[in-house]
Amino acid sequence: MNLLKTRVDNSKANLIGQRFGRLTVISEGKTRGYYKYYLCKCDCGNEKEIYEANLRRGLTKSCGCLQKERARKANLIHGHAAKGKKTKLYRVWCGMHNRCKCKTNSSYELYGARGITVCDEWKEFLPFYDWAIANRYREGLEIDRIDGNKGYGPDNCRWVTPRENGLNKRNNRLITINGETRTLSEWAEISGINYDLLWYRVHAGWTGTDMLKPPRTSRPKTRFYEDEDEDEPTKTGTE
Ligand SMILES: [Zn+2]
Repeated sequence: MNLLKTRVDNSKANLIGQRFGRLTVISEGKTRGYYKYYLCKCDCGNEKEIYEANLRRGLTKSCGCLQKERARKANLIHGHAAKGKKTKLYRVWCGMHNRCKCKTNSSYELYGARGITVCDEWKEFLPFYDWAIANRYREGLEIDRIDGNKGYGPDNCRWVTPRENGLNKRNNRLITINGETRTLSEWAEISGINYDLLWYRVHAGWTGTDMLKPPRTSRPKTRFYEDEDEDEPTKTGTE
């Protein structure tokens, strides 16, 4: 009898102050019939009495906030990423990752190939979503990197209207190359280099004739010369 009592006391002493997931045991709680409860403080600030056996078995690890978060995450992902019903914001998130990671993405050359990355925090959609909402995202806004040489992350991003984005890009920016000064769109026309590529080069600090270097992967010329809209001639055979 004595032995048993000692063992029970020890177990009590051990539990108080212990952590189980997000819970820290503060004190003994009520006993409901045979069921012993402990008052626990959760990392989120809530206090709650938890059934001892569930603590010991690792079945309860929070006041309930953990499950709520998981449910929120699942709902959110489901709400944003459901097949065929992806939200604009989810597409922004996907687009950002694809430009940086997916070599077959048409903009990879301007992003991933230049070392532009997405920060660790935004590898998951939920933290990105939270940042977007906290920073007054609304449908129709575009994500803008403040410093074009830096990657995607909360410190270097903001939401802008397409108009602002367009102004940032065009802004009648005059570029002098070999003593000749023209707007960026004029240079794009003259050189046949994609306007966005030129803009990113300016953004990245390129100057002079470097600006007009042909891109690493050649793009179909039909995009730049509207008159030549026929497909490239296939093989020379005339049979
Ligand atoms: Zn909690």
